[in-house]
Amino acid sequence: MKFHVLTLFPEMVMLGLAPSIIGRAAQRDRISINAVNIRDYSLDRHKKVDDYPYGGGAGMLMQAQPVYDAHKAVTKGRRIRTIYVTPQGMPFSQKIAQELAQEEELIFLCGHYEGIDERVLEEVVTDYLSIGDYVLTGGELPAMVIMDAVARLIPGVLGNDMSAEEESFYNDLLEYPQYSRPEVWHGKRVPQVLLSGNHRKVSQWRLEQSILRTEERRPDLAEIYRRKQRLTAQLAKNKRNNIHMIESIARGCGEILYEELESGGGNLLVYDRLCKICMILAEDVDSGERLVGLIPDETVKIWVVQPFMSEVLWKMRFQKLHAYIQVLYPQKVALPVRHKDIHLLSKEDLEAINLNAFAEMLSAEISNADCQKDLPDSADGYDWEHKRNAGLVQWEEILADAANGLVYGAFQEGIPVGMIVTDRNGRLGLPIVAERFAAWEIAKSLIAGSANHILEKGRIPYAHVDTRNQKAVELFEELGFYKATAVVMEYGNLG
Ligand code: SAM
Repeated sequence: MKFHVLTLFPEMVMLGLAPSIIGRAAQRDRISINAVNIRDYSLDRHKKVDDYPYGGGAGMLMQAQPVYDAHKAVTKGRRIRTIYVTPQGMPFSQKIAQELAQEEELIFLCGHYEGIDERVLEEVVTDYLSIGDYVLTGGELPAMVIMDAVARLIPGVLGNDMSAEEESFYNDLLEYPQYSRPEVWHGKRVPQVLLSGNHRKVSQWRLEQSILRTEERRPDLAEIYRRKQRLTAQLAKNKRNNIHMIESIARGCGEILYEELESGGGNLLVYDRLCKICMILAEDVDSGERLVGLIPDETVKIWVVQPFMSEVLWKMRFQKLHAYIQVLYPQKVALPVRHKDIHLLSKEDLEAINLNAFAEMLSAEISNADCQKDLPDSADGYDWEHKRNAGLVQWEEILADAANGLVYGAFQEGIPVGMIVTDRNGRLGLPIVAERFAAWEIAKSLIAGSANHILEKGRIPYAHVDTRNQKAVELFEELGFYKATAVVMEYGNLG
């Protein structure tokens, strides 16, 4: 991630970040920080960048031209998300940090004096963000606050990348209390459950404590949490067909943009900001059209389960990409893992894997998994050639997923023979297994191993399997997964 900061005090930004974890990440090239002095772009002989505001009033205003030219020097014609930090912006939050962490480059514009001439803001700014309802003298501290929160979500910046999943605000709850050695301090014992070694019980205790703490300290957040709980309980009446929405909301990824659910039906629009997916439940065609009208512009995919929504989306110029069978494992009992050598893969593990071996695994997926030989050629949106060509892109994505603790590998005598990727939304991917090994057994163990990890966190493992991939459905069913009755249709936003 590249951060550019347009400021009148570049040294404040560089010196402020240098000693921190973020500064170290910059040294290790995980991120880069480029502080640009707006004054360097002033056309004034004395490098003046401010002037009096028209209409009078206290203080000075930063002029449009130097800001515009500094911005142009960074973008060089490219479109880069540009954030003006201002008390007049949207309140910055962990959700916004997660969303910004997906960008490759960000520009921060720091104001000073009474702010910046409105006309240049209109031309360069894409987002207005505030770090709180108070007024500071300049935008440098707010920009640093946001950069810190965003940078620590970037794979490889923190030592332990998985910790972001447990922290405060993930899932609308504050983090549970934590304890370290010694077991007894000032006569206070560490809660017994944390010493039990029972992951499930520890997760359960932590969730209870998180809820208690949130209720005590942040009743506003606790109310949001309770509302989501009520909603997921309603959706759970048809768990098999609604599992994608239940899991997205329960994991804190799904934001509820519209809700009008009654027993047995209603309307719901859930937006997963991270994956840019909208999930829709509608009562009828009219409500469906209304909900589609509410989807955010950045939406990349839309998931619907009601057949009449196909008509709505087609009419509104969305393109059908996939049809999935949902499979889920709603039991609480851990699944048997026969092939023992399965563990979470770190980014470093993956980097050490011989790329040729990986290519072999990937091609094994392509030739096995979908038994696509009997697929009709015209099957829409089904393009193996494209997948094959996109091999490298996938590899980059898998590396990022590994850094986020989402990839499991199967090994045989130290050689990687398979892997499975789970996504942030909670979905299990299809196992990828090298053909020359006991593919079926290893694939089952990869699913079971990763599903058990999801179960330990108190979540429900589920997957989306292409409707034509009967072999993969069988694989999940053999393990005890259930099939949904409705098909999830995936649409692409062409607009
Ligand atoms: N006159 C402006 C107003 O009332 O909105 C405030 C200007 S403030 C003194 C100077 C600069 O500090 C702003 O342009 C902005 O970049 C930054 N700033 C101050 N408070 C901030 C906050 N709470 N969040 C983000 N940026 C802030």
